[in-house]
Amino acid sequence: MLALGIESTAHTFGCAIAEMKGKRKGTFRILSDVRSSYRPPEGSGIHPREASRHHANVCSRILKEAVMRSSLKMEDIDIIGYSAGPGLGPCLRIGAVLARLLSTYYRKPLVPVNHALAHIELGAWLTGARNPLVILVSGGHTMILLYFNKRWRIFGETLDITIGQLLDQFGRSLGFSSPCGSMIERLASNSNKEYSGIPYTIKGNDVSFSGLLTAAIKRTKGGSFDIGNTCYSLQETAFAILAEATERAISFTNKDEVMVVGGVAANRRLADMLNYVCTRHSSKLHVCPIHYAGDNGVQIALTSLIDHVNSKVSVAPENGFIDQAWRLDSVNVRWR
Ligand code: AMP
Ligand code: MG
Repeated sequence: MLALGIESTAHTFGCAIAEMKGKRKGTFRILSDVRSSYRPPEGSGIHPREASRHHANVCSRILKEAVMRSSLKMEDIDIIGYSAGPGLGPCLRIGAVLARLLSTYYRKPLVPVNHALAHIELGAWLTGARNPLVILVSGGHTMILLYFNKRWRIFGETLDITIGQLLDQFGRSLGFSSPCGSMIERLASNSNKEYSGIPYTIKGNDVSFSGLLTAAIKRTKGGSFDIGNTCYSLQETAFAILAEATERAISFTNKDEVMVVGGVAANRRLADMLNYVCTRHSSKLHVCPIHYAGDNGVQIALTSLIDHVNSKVSVAPENGFIDQAWRLDSVNVRWR
């Protein structure tokens, strides 16, 4: 079966075409993967209206290119999967409108996909993780998850901003263009690595990053702290908080596999810290490969295929919903 996956939750508009033979994920194959990301002006964050304008401008080109690179025709595709949430309303709407239109015109089943679940499914396919504790760290999520009885259950999550927002907002305060995670990683690794204390907040299994953000911004504005060392201290503190919450979750659940997915999974220092924790508990760490850590159409194509093949799920084009706040722990994972 062939799927077109459409992703449009935030910065990235992506289309991918993929194939799965039968019900087995092992036969999944990526035929094309085309993306374009909105870059806000330096120093500013993502503006939902501007990002959706970007998506509207690029969507037909990205779709055409994805179909062309797969060497297929739209008529060959069996199902249309799209990211239905969580995400930014105006951005989600562009993807959903395109998906509904294609589903109506080509008479193909339409499959809404939960974006967070799609990060997990793609990560598991790429890394071979079977039943891991999941650390989902991205622009929209900071969650520690475990699967139980048809749902991903939240063991811990952020009480305020996500770790992606922490890095992006700090980077923007320095005048960088969002997303800033990889720039902060570079500045931190090239610094003298002189650590200076930044508030460390962990509450039970949950984490909090807004105090760190305020403290780090205050420092750089004061001018007496080196920017590289502040990036280093910010990363060390934020990742140590996540590592502590992860260690608690491993001890509690006895999981012998941990998988980290989402855009922030691209950070090598975070992987090193999580690896240290996992080794202490004889647990294996799976890190989503950098190219697929951020948002992309492949994750949507894969999840729509697994869902549709195993449970025949689809909605009529007029019922192709979006839900900006679609929580992962409210989704029934029919196929697991
Ligand atoms: P996503 O929402 O999954 O597309 O992830 C986007 C988030 O990942 C943004 O907040 C980026 O700043 C962050 N990110 C991307 N690359 C890195 C990196 N190397 N280190 C830390 N964060 C990163
Ligand atoms: Mg994402």
